[in-house]
Amino acid sequence: MYPNWILQRAYLTPTRAALTFGNNSWTFDQIKEISLNRAEQLAALGIQHKQRIALLGPSQPRLIFMMYGCMHLQCEMVMLNRKLSKAELEYQIQDAEVEVVLVDETDVDILPANIQKLTFSTIEESKGVKVDIAHDWPVDQTITIMYTSGTTGFPKGVRQTVGNHQSSALSSVLNIGLTEEDVWLCALPLFHISGFSILVRSLLYGNEVKLYEKFDKECAVQDIAEGRVTHMSVVAVILERILHGLEEKQLKASPKFKVMLPGGGPVPKKYLERAHQLGIAVCQTYGMTETSSQTATLSNKDALRKLGSVGKPLFFNQIKIDANEQGREGEILIRGPHVTPGYIGRFAEKSPTIDGWLHTGDIGYLDEEGYLYVVDRRSDLIISGGENIYPAEVENVLMGHDAIREAGVCGIEDEVWGQVPIAFIVLKSDISEEELQKYCLEKLAKYKIPKQFYVVQELPRNGSNKLMRRKLKDLL
Ligand code: ATP
Ligand code: MG
Repeated sequence: MYPNWILQRAYLTPTRAALTFGNNSWTFDQIKEISLNRAEQLAALGIQHKQRIALLGPSQPRLIFMMYGCMHLQCEMVMLNRKLSKAELEYQIQDAEVEVVLVDETDVDILPANIQKLTFSTIEESKGVKVDIAHDWPVDQTITIMYTSGTTGFPKGVRQTVGNHQSSALSSVLNIGLTEEDVWLCALPLFHISGFSILVRSLLYGNEVKLYEKFDKECAVQDIAEGRVTHMSVVAVILERILHGLEEKQLKASPKFKVMLPGGGPVPKKYLERAHQLGIAVCQTYGMTETSSQTATLSNKDALRKLGSVGKPLFFNQIKIDANEQGREGEILIRGPHVTPGYIGRFAEKSPTIDGWLHTGDIGYLDEEGYLYVVDRRSDLIISGGENIYPAEVENVLMGHDAIREAGVCGIEDEVWGQVPIAFIVLKSDISEEELQKYCLEKLAKYKIPKQFYVVQELPRNGSNKLMRRKLKDLL
C-alpha cells in the first residue's frame, strides 16, 4: 500500500504553494479540501467507489480538483483528449466501457450526443454526501487509463497504476533532481502522461506547479527569462517556439531555470545547439504512455557530447535491444516498475510485455557507453534495395534546411528497389528541387535521398500533434 498522495502531501506540508494559475494560487491544504469536497459531491451524484469514469476539460485548476476528487474515490480515470474528433472520442469511450463522462461545460459539444455526461458545474454546485476516503492505495490500483496517440494504428487504452506513476516520479526525480523551491511549468495537456506526471511529481515532492491552459509563447519566455519557473516539459515544436521567442527578444534563460525536458518525439539537433546558446539545459527524454512518462533521459552534461541520444535508463528500469535482431539496431525493450500491467478494451488480450519486457515498437541502439539512441518506429522502416532507411533520419536532415519547416518521409513501392523514400515538405521559403537535391547529396547517402518531393500546406498529424506517416501517401 502507498499513502493517498493528496492527503499525505497536505498532511506533510499544508501551507506550501501547490498550484498557480494566472493570478490565483492554492496550497496543498486548500487543494486537499477542495478535492475532498469534490469526492463527496461526486458520490452524491452516484459515482461509485472504484468506478471507471472518463474526464474531459481544458487544463484548468477545476480539472485538477475533479481528478483529485476521483482519485479520493479510487476511480479509474479515462483521460480524454480534447483535440480528438467525435468519432475518435466515441471509440475510446466505448472501448473503455465508461458509462459517464465528467465534462467541463466548454467541452460538452466535443462529445458525441448519445453519451451520458455530468458537467463540472453540476458537480461543483451539488451538495455532497459523507464518504469514506482511503488513506492508502494498493500499488496495483489503476489510477489512470490513457490512450496511446494512435500514431501507428488504433489508440490503445493503457492502464497506469499507483505503482507505475509513483516509480516513474521517483526515478525521474532521482535523475534530474527537484526541491521544494522548484516550480514546474505545465503547458502540456493534463490528459496526457507528460502533463499528468507533473502533478504526480508535485504531490510526491511538494513542489509547485505553474499551470497554463494553453502554451503561451510570450508568457513562457518571460517565466523562463525571469526565473519564475525552474523546470518545464515540452515537445519539440514548443521548444522551438520558446527558443525563437528568446532569440527574438535577445534574452537568455535565467540561471534559476534548471531543466527543459523535451519528450514525445525526436528533437532536431539544431534546436539543442540553439538551446545551449541561450543557456537552457536540455535533457532529452524518451518515454511512452506504456511507461507512464520518461524511461530514459540524457543529462544536460551530455547534451552536446551525446547529441541525438536520449540518455541512459532511469534508476529503476532497464533497457536492452532485442537480441534476436542482427547488427547494432533492434527493437527497444524496457523492464521496470513503471511499465503498464496491460491494455484495456480491444487490446486487453494483447500483452505489451513478453517475459517482463515491454516491446516498444521503436528501433534503437545502445552505444559503447550504454547511451540509448532512438532511431525510428519499427513500422515505418523503409527497405530499399536491401538497405534500411529510417524516415526520421531523412526528416531530420530536411528540417535542418532553412527553407523547410516540416518534413514527412515514407516509402512507396518501386519495381527496381522494392521501396524508395519520398518526402512531403512544408516550406518556410521557396526552394528549387535542384537545390534540395544538392543539399541532400551533401548530407545523405544516395539511397536515402527522397525520389520525389511534394510541397504541401500541412502534414497529417494526430491529436497529440504527431506526424502520422502512414497517412502521408493519402496526400498523393
Ligand atoms: P501508438 O502507440 O498508438 O502508435 P504513440 O506510440 O505515438 O502511439 P505515445 O505513447 O504517445 O503514443 O508515444 C510514445 C512514442 O513516442 C514512443 O514509442 C516513441 O516512438 C516516440 N518517442 C517518445 N520520445 C521520443 C524521443 N525522445 N525520440 C524519439 N521518439 C520518441
Ligand atoms: Mg506507442
